[in-house]
Amino acid sequence: MPKYKLAINGGPKVRYKKFPFCTPIGREEIKAATEVLKSGILSQFLGSWHESFYGGPQVQQLEKEWAAFYKVKHAVSVNSATSALICAVGAAGISPGDEVIVTPYSMCVSATAPLFYGAIPVFADIEEDYLCLNPKSIEQKITKRTRAIIVADILGQPYDAAAINKLARKYKLIVIEDAAQAPGAKYKGKYAGTLADMGIYSLNYHKHIHTGEGGILVTDDDILAERARMIRNHADAVIDSRPLKLLKKKSIGSYVNMLGYNFRMTELEAAVARQQLKKIKKFNTERLKNVNYLAKKLSVIPFIKSLKKRPGCEHVYYMPAFSFDEIIAGVARDKFIKAVAAELSPMAKRENEGVLIETGYVKPLYLLPIFQKQICYGSKGYPFRSPYYKGKLSYQKGLAPVCEYHHYHDLFLIELIMPGLSRRDLDDIAEAFYKVWRNLGEL
Ligand SMILES: *Cc1c(COP(=O)(O)O)cnc(C)c1O
Repeated sequence: MPKYKLAINGGPKVRYKKFPFCTPIGREEIKAATEVLKSGILSQFLGSWHESFYGGPQVQQLEKEWAAFYKVKHAVSVNSATSALICAVGAAGISPGDEVIVTPYSMCVSATAPLFYGAIPVFADIEEDYLCLNPKSIEQKITKRTRAIIVADILGQPYDAAAINKLARKYKLIVIEDAAQAPGAKYKGKYAGTLADMGIYSLNYHKHIHTGEGGILVTDDDILAERARMIRNHADAVIDSRPLKLLKKKSIGSYVNMLGYNFRMTELEAAVARQQLKKIKKFNTERLKNVNYLAKKLSVIPFIKSLKKRPGCEHVYYMPAFSFDEIIAGVARDKFIKAVAAELSPMAKRENEGVLIETGYVKPLYLLPIFQKQICYGSKGYPFRSPYYKGKLSYQKGLAPVCEYHHYHDLFLIELIMPGLSRRDLDDIAEAFYKVWRNLGEL
């Protein structure tokens, strides 16, 4: 085998050609969007108690189809998964002074959503094998102020629904499932996103299926769904004229306690989403094939292991996660992965993101300035230091050791597994790993 100098040391790269641009958008979406444009009706919502309070034909049809696909009673479309989480926390009636248990290893809004209602995010640690919230750690964080848990099906794998839902029943907590990264994943035959009281999906540009921006909230609870629809569309104005009995729920308290936003999805996005929904299974199958192919190739490297899959689950691999053993390798993970990335090229049209292989995922969220400085609205420290909050805040480094270990030393993610990549593309990725492995001495 010829010994080449590593690209990071000035040698030739394994691959100069950019990876092909992968997009789930095809002819069907273009046709659907064009028809909406031709109709001239790009949105048909009215922010008042009126039949158009629920949006136009594409929006309503999408919600029906989404609910049917996921086998839930209600789907509420919004303009992002962030908005969907804000609707979910608001629908649940979370208030200032409440605590909500959240994960440190997710997109930031999975942890910051309670703050929109003046509630306090309390971080639990994650599972070593599956990276989702650890039920044992959750139980340690429950206090008399705890009202809800926001779980995330991180990287495409469902949370431990059996254990966490059981805890929720025991302590009377609401569970909100962030399934933004897990559309089509399953837990014991049931879809991720439908495992909790409410679930949310994302349709942003980086997710399995997308509409540019968009989100969907699902629930089987009539009142939670109706409250989410109110928050989506100017609740405070609409409440004045709508019949209140539709919204009464003892456990939530008042039915006026909803500040409305404009989180409405347009007809264009809804039309595109309807087409995307039809393709999700096919995309997930292709994605899984790519992940299995690449994982098998990397499994010969003694210091790299695929993270485990939760038994009984269908994982949809937003990104496959690998564990890097720095001791066996004799080199730091970051140095190794940087050398691998130097052997490859970016994806076409996404050049500014660099090579799509990352060390760690997001910095443990409690280390973000909003928690470290405990400032989020204005300058007086609300809601962290408000008189409503009687608990003890804790956002110090070391809070979630499993998360910190994975992030800073162990984990790396390969985004280059999307449908549309060829075996040749995946072979090049594996070859970059092999080349750095063969030439470890150069690092
Ligand atoms: C992408 C993502 C979100 C937010 O999605 P948007 O639609 O961009 O608001 C929330 N949670 C997780 C886990 C995500 O990956």
